[in-house]
Amino acid sequence: MFEKLKDLKVYEAGKPIELVVREFGIKPNEIIKLASNENPYGPSPKVIEAVKNIAHLMHRYPDDSFFELKEGLAKKFSLEDKNFIIGAGSDQVLEFAIHGVAPKKVLMAGITFAMYEIYSKQVGAEILKTPSSMHNLDEFLEIYKKEKPEIIFLCVPNNPLGECLDADEVYDFIEKIDNDTLVIVDGAYQEFAAYKDAKKALDVKRLISYPNVLYTGTFSKAYGLGGMRVGYGIANEEIIRNLHKLRPPFNITTLSLKAALEALKDEEWVRMGIENNFKEMQKYIDFAREKGFNYIDSFTNFIVLYIPQSTEIADKLLKRGIIVRNMASYGFDALRITIGKPEENDKVINTLREIS
Ligand SMILES: *Cc1c(COP(=O)(O)O)cnc(C)c1O
Repeated sequence: MFEKLKDLKVYEAGKPIELVVREFGIKPNEIIKLASNENPYGPSPKVIEAVKNIAHLMHRYPDDSFFELKEGLAKKFSLEDKNFIIGAGSDQVLEFAIHGVAPKKVLMAGITFAMYEIYSKQVGAEILKTPSSMHNLDEFLEIYKKEKPEIIFLCVPNNPLGECLDADEVYDFIEKIDNDTLVIVDGAYQEFAAYKDAKKALDVKRLISYPNVLYTGTFSKAYGLGGMRVGYGIANEEIIRNLHKLRPPFNITTLSLKAALEALKDEEWVRMGIENNFKEMQKYIDFAREKGFNYIDSFTNFIVLYIPQSTEIADKLLKRGIIVRNMASYGFDALRITIGKPEENDKVINTLREIS
């Protein structure tokens, strides 16, 4: 009955805190979870207050047009509300696009966001990956010309590695792609990249002036709303109109909608989180240099450290209540560590110093 799914595995999200509590008997408040690229500071306190204030409205469906949120986003990106679709996380927007196109072939970087492959396999697509793990646009172009995939994924910056294409490289690449191939530019970490290096900042208005580009963004990372599940897609009116054919009604909740709206109003809070992120990331870089470990220059809220025997190290960390992402499943020894709060990073680094 489910033959089409035989090559699919169930997605394994980072280990939840609850599991470490059960398995190792560690108190929930002593667990450090740096495995899912969440914002350690959470959302602006104003967001929490606003959500509390409308908790009594949870029996009501949200305004399904999400008009106010689209207006807020339109202002942020200097676009119009007709350029936006709202999803339960940007994951859901990716799902709409991939299921809507139902491609025979898709193209992505050697190591990139797992959901591209999962949604594509759900519609029976063949998955093409570049030989390089990181984004190498010459390789993308070569495979594109030969195979003509209907969707190309660019993750800018890339999760789980952290590298980031320059904006100019992205525009130049798109210009070489025919209009019947959809280029999905995933900007889940764009706020971080744009802060670190202006060359990485994508001009979304310019991007979507191409007829075949869908940009996706999320409130889960810089805005600290991972648990609320709000993301968005940006494209020209025609792409957006088509994606809406796949969207179920009320696909985000009344409380999520409120949270996203309020989060957009407190850019100061978001900037503070991003500043701290890169300040704290430096501690991991210093540690890697001290130990002679290689690392990937990161434009995100996580860093990949090449640590020998990473599987054993990840297990030892787990027993001490520290959850990180082991990269061994990708075929090399490394840990992907989300940048936490100062005291969390200090504890992780001190523990790593002891055990690695
Ligand atoms: C986190 C992430 C997303 C989407 O997360 P949502 O919580 O579904 O918005 C999309 N792409 C990448 C690369 C991510 O890391």
